Amino acid sequence: MKLAEELYVYPWTHTQANNCNAYLAGGAASMLIDPGHARLFQHVEMGLSRDQIKAMPRLVLLTHCHPDHLEAAIPLQRAGLKVAIHATEAAYLEGEGRQLAASLGLSMPEITFDIFLDEGELTLDGESFQVIHTPGHSPGHICLYWPRHKALIAGDLVFAQGVGRVDFPGGNAEQLKQSIMKVAALDLEWVLPGHGPVIKGSASIKKNFEFIQKMYFNQM
Ligand SMILES: [Zn+2]
Repeated sequence: MKLAEELYVYPWTHTQANNCNAYLAGGAASMLIDPGHARLFQHVEMGLSRDQIKAMPRLVLLTHCHPDHLEAAIPLQRAGLKVAIHATEAAYLEGEGRQLAASLGLSMPEITFDIFLDEGELTLDGESFQVIHTPGHSPGHICLYWPRHKALIAGDLVFAQGVGRVDFPGGNAEQLKQSIMKVAALDLEWVLPGHGPVIKGSASIKKNFEFIQKMYFNQM
């Protein structure tokens, strides 16, 4: 579903299965963010075809390594896409991340990454993004800011009226709070979370951060 010029969302609306919202930065960037579970990726493919996106993106960018965001990156990589993740998150996946999956009775996906991200500017064919390291939900979690749209692809840092869980191994409530404060200071017209509805417009976004501060920060 098109949100703005070259910016698309594939929201997860089923209630019986867990998957994340996937986002596409089209055009020159040609980047898919958080493709979701491999077995549910068909839903993204259908969305791409509805939006008449003819060429598959070239890059998969992961906000973090949890399987409901990462898993479909594996078949996509086999199909020739490059996969990018924060270096800290790649290391976490090999350690605590694997324990987390085992404790949930899941096997953590086996993947080797092509590109290791760090905080700062990411330029793809002239299109400029900011990678923002936002630990808390997981140690190498990132958000992606697209200045052209004042859009924050937020992963599991912040949702409409909610925040990411910190009770997983590698989670840290104080870091989550700091990370939320960091992104709340950006000039934002879109907050595009990994789960739940998209938040549009600076006034709604400001209200959402105020709500989160009031409801969650005292308990963190
Ligand atoms: Zn997660």
